[in-house]
Amino acid sequence: MARSTVWHPFTQHGTEPNATMIARGEGAWLETEDGRRILDGISSWWVVTHGHRHPAIVAAIHEQIDKLDQVIFAGFTHAPAEELAKKVVGLAPAGLDHVFFSDSGSTSIEVALKMALGYWRNIGQTRTRIAALEHGYHGDTIGTMSAGARGVFNAAYEPLLFDVVRIPFPYTGREQETLDALDAACREAPLAALIVEPLILGAGGMMMYGATTLHEMKRICERHDALFIADEVMTGWGRTGTLFACDQAAIAPDIMCVAKGLTGGSLPLAATLASARIFDAHYSEDRSRTLFHSSSFTANPVCCAAALANLRIWETEPVLERVAALGALQERALGALTAKSAGFKNPRRLGTITAVDLEVDDSGYLASVGPALRAHFLARGILLRPLGNTIYVMPPYCTTEADLALAYDAIRDAPKALSRGP
Ligand code: PLP
Repeated sequence: MARSTVWHPFTQHGTEPNATMIARGEGAWLETEDGRRILDGISSWWVVTHGHRHPAIVAAIHEQIDKLDQVIFAGFTHAPAEELAKKVVGLAPAGLDHVFFSDSGSTSIEVALKMALGYWRNIGQTRTRIAALEHGYHGDTIGTMSAGARGVFNAAYEPLLFDVVRIPFPYTGREQETLDALDAACREAPLAALIVEPLILGAGGMMMYGATTLHEMKRICERHDALFIADEVMTGWGRTGTLFACDQAAIAPDIMCVAKGLTGGSLPLAATLASARIFDAHYSEDRSRTLFHSSSFTANPVCCAAALANLRIWETEPVLERVAALGALQERALGALTAKSAGFKNPRRLGTITAVDLEVDDSGYLASVGPALRAHFLARGILLRPLGNTIYVMPPYCTTEADLALAYDAIRDAPKALSRGP
């Protein structure tokens, strides 16, 4: 069998030799080289918000590339980044007054962890313990894997990962256990920071928890002066029904990470937002107190122009209404699925995201159910990428009722397709 020259992410080339060749994308749909249409039911890994190739974002990219393609961002700046930073600060929870740009969710988290450690060092305290939620996912770099759940994904790299304090996930009815564990961890020894995915743990299996618990976690951190890092990489830009998930808990984190939908999902750009307290601890005439982080394409002007166009869409189009309407459609489709079909359990929804677990004997990530489901959906012209036996739908906001019906029909038929086998 011919070996692929391209080494694809999260892909076992030995069992998945043929990646689908995509040539075009528009709205909620992708199109293959040979003209087959595929509904993008996961927003191309949770990034596309308004739809593929929103005309205003495409136009902004064209306009910017004709002026300035790239410039070093240390000692130099440019209008798209300056304007974008101000606008993002205006939209973010209060008090997040400084913006550090990078280019992926993972790097935005690495920067957040470095900001937290740098903060404590610069104010002369030795706080280095990081706490994180059990089942969390924050990326695939060494630092972000350390903060995330351990499993088959990172077993090989385990010797390089640093320890974090694990706080149990707040299962419904057992939220107090989470809060008590966080409080106990803070009392045991000072925490540098707690990092959480607010309201929903994505890659951990679309595990949802309430805004009250999120609010209480923040209060405990405040009480013990531990920094609170909100990883809004997946949840940001409307996905959970509000612009940011933190908005539902009425909390303002000390540090907040955004990426994916920052450019509407068109180009890679991420931002780590920090409060003045964090920035000021690095602000000095002493150069050793610098935040020592950079990447070559930090605040790339074309990416910033795409993000600005995205924010203009938020300003000028009824995006939150669209998000609410999609949420209602999702609720109805999921309800109809579980009311009429056997084989599904634990249906859940948060904003535009729905998830349901397929009843199977082996539900682990490496179980055959995942790839078998993926193949079934693709054969039906739907891009869904279940997490083990968890099937979720996280579509772009332009997805219609008719589009969703196609996705849910394919989900309804999944148990039958699996029992038939390949
Ligand atoms: N944090 C969360 C919550 C995520 O869901 C992801 C990616 O899915 C990341 C961080 C990492 O983002 P990226 O893949 O852009 O590095």
